[in-house]
Amino acid sequence: MRKIYAVTNQKGGVGKTTTSVNLAASLAATGRRVLLVDFDPQGNATTASGVDKNQLEHSSADVLAGEPARSCIVHAGVAGYDLLGANGALTVSEVELMSQPKREFRLRDALAAPTDDYDYILIDCPPTLNTLTVNALVAAHGVIIPIQCEYFALEGLSSLLQTVERVRQSANPGLRVEGVLRTMFDPRNNLALDVSRQLVLHFEKELYEAVIPRNVTLAEAPSHGMPILQYDKHSRGSRAYLELAGEMLTREGAV
Ligand code: ATP
Ligand code: MG
Repeated sequence: MRKIYAVTNQKGGVGKTTTSVNLAASLAATGRRVLLVDFDPQGNATTASGVDKNQLEHSSADVLAGEPARSCIVHAGVAGYDLLGANGALTVSEVELMSQPKREFRLRDALAAPTDDYDYILIDCPPTLNTLTVNALVAAHGVIIPIQCEYFALEGLSSLLQTVERVRQSANPGLRVEGVLRTMFDPRNNLALDVSRQLVLHFEKELYEAVIPRNVTLAEAPSHGMPILQYDKHSRGSRAYLELAGEMLTREGAV
């Protein structure tokens, strides 16, 4: 069982990176072999994994340029998973990619070899529906969509779902929405409850029961270069991401 999931939503700041990093750490804590691919030139997932994005010898940009992925992967020591890091160089790769044939297949082809080394590969996508995101969608078996339960949360969701559908029809017939995740949830906020109800209606099957609460410890952990499990394993945020990992494994019949 090997699964590649793209964590994506073109809306910015909804918890893609927080989810990628903490889900990777939670899956690793259950003994799964996990690779986290930072596919955002902001390099936030790299930093949050305790790796200096400005000191990367190799990154996901090199992989797009044809470098074998295995030689670009580092072990994110404290976090318990492997990392294919990213930094600003990825923006240059994206521009270079624009003029190349079969550009949307680059990541898929690059991950073909190391796929056997891992149980899970998570791809943290940038907040745009650009060539990078399309590469991630072509490489993935499923899409995990974090949604912040607030006003405008559902705006843009239909273009994301259309893009998923387009990729499914053109390049990756197996692609599906694996799960929809409520992030930064505050049950005291009526609007959050309202958005959550709409998500229950729209994504009956896909919506995870696990809900990620708004939790300040989750926001603090990246500045210490650690997933929350290592930073404060008893926090609510940590428990929520462990619960998500458990739900994912149960859905796949993997436990
Ligand atoms: P971008 O679109 O820029 O890549 P993103 O979707 O990856 O953003 P994150 O970087 O994960 O979003 O989160 C945005 C901000 O919100 C960060 O400062 C993060 O620490 C904070 N944050 C994320 N999830 C939570 C949470 N559950 N509780 C509190 N703060 C959170
Ligand atoms: Mg991010």
